[in-house]
Amino acid sequence: MAFLAPAGTPVPFFRAGMAMLRGAVSEAPRQALARRLAESAGHRYCALFITGRASMIVGLEALRSIERDPSRNEVLIPAYTCYSVPAAVLRAGLKPRLCDVSPETLSFDPETLARADTSRTLAIVSANLYGVPNDLHFLEAFARERGMRLFDDAAQALGASIGGRPVGGFGDIGLYSFDKGKNITSIDGGALVASDPSLTAELESRLLSSGGVSRRHALTSSGKLLAYSLLLRPGLYGIVNRLPLGLGTTPYDDRFPVAGYSQALAAVAELLLKDLDSLRSARTERALRMRSELASSSTLRSLQLLPGAVPAWARLPVFVTDGRLRERIISRLVAAGIGATASYPQPLHRVPEVARHLPQQDLVNPGADQVAATIMTLPTHAYVPLDLGRRVRKIVDAA
Ligand SMILES: *Cc1c(COP(=O)(O)O)cnc(C)c1O
Repeated sequence: MAFLAPAGTPVPFFRAGMAMLRGAVSEAPRQALARRLAESAGHRYCALFITGRASMIVGLEALRSIERDPSRNEVLIPAYTCYSVPAAVLRAGLKPRLCDVSPETLSFDPETLARADTSRTLAIVSANLYGVPNDLHFLEAFARERGMRLFDDAAQALGASIGGRPVGGFGDIGLYSFDKGKNITSIDGGALVASDPSLTAELESRLLSSGGVSRRHALTSSGKLLAYSLLLRPGLYGIVNRLPLGLGTTPYDDRFPVAGYSQALAAVAELLLKDLDSLRSARTERALRMRSELASSSTLRSLQLLPGAVPAWARLPVFVTDGRLRERIISRLVAAGIGATASYPQPLHRVPEVARHLPQQDLVNPGADQVAATIMTLPTHAYVPLDLGRRVRKIVDAA
């Protein structure tokens, strides 16, 4: 049976194959990718790494090395975000601290944030989950006021903006990811963008000393990328989805390599980046149609967008108001071939590998608990039919 993958980017098989061959023999596509990412973020510099999480480790280490106050060794992160974020904080030798999020907007809860003790905070990290911008103007001003850095995590938000400014371009340093479920994908890959000369010098020297990817990694990931380009199609994804590959699960993992980005994969990301506007408008059209189709449902609640937000809609997040109904709705959607997910299964204070490192006062985050218990994501990529909202609505209403 056909199955709509929970997230993904259609990759044109032949053009991607040609791009990989070009990238394998020339630096030019990877350099062009870096230039375009920096430019579109409004930054001067971009460094490319093997993954987003590796980029985040390097970015945090670089921020730490230019920080004059040695007591600033904490990183304030949303209590509900990707598990790679606390893993990167710990790998950088820093202390994760949590701040609760608003279940209405998924941005930091403003009151909790105002009360946070930031005297030891090196950086605060945004999340922009599902491509929906956080309150980045506020976070930028707040970080500056408190003498800390803003790390704008746009792993899911390439192409999004708020108040006319690109997500990933706020604060001191921004992050993009080219992993499988992101706005553009080359299976692996991550980018840091920044402008401050002392920071970019640190990033550049760390990029040079981190070494390239092995030939073996470059080859296997290129093969995976070609397979992905075929398998994301709903007809084939239905077969893949039945194999026990652990697709769609997000275990905590902190044993990943730090290295540069394969030239061959970067060439595919560069190819897809040229199509970012059309990828984003395809997702936006689907997301907005679904939002309006589902708006009047008494079972679902929509995410509230902040003023001026233009999301990239990597997925459409909705909330199942009665959390007990969620598993039933998701399993019926999945049975109907729709890649609905419960997103990250736990808020970070309930992930044992993270919680061990947290002080007592960070363990209570009711907003993040509510998000984790009620969120459901729906696919928005270009393989999603435009009338998916109607089908989802029927299944939700019958549940
Ligand atoms: C995916 C993701 C990352 C890490 O990126 P990878 O390329 O998967 O390592 C970081 N932050 C967020 C919010 C993400 O969604």
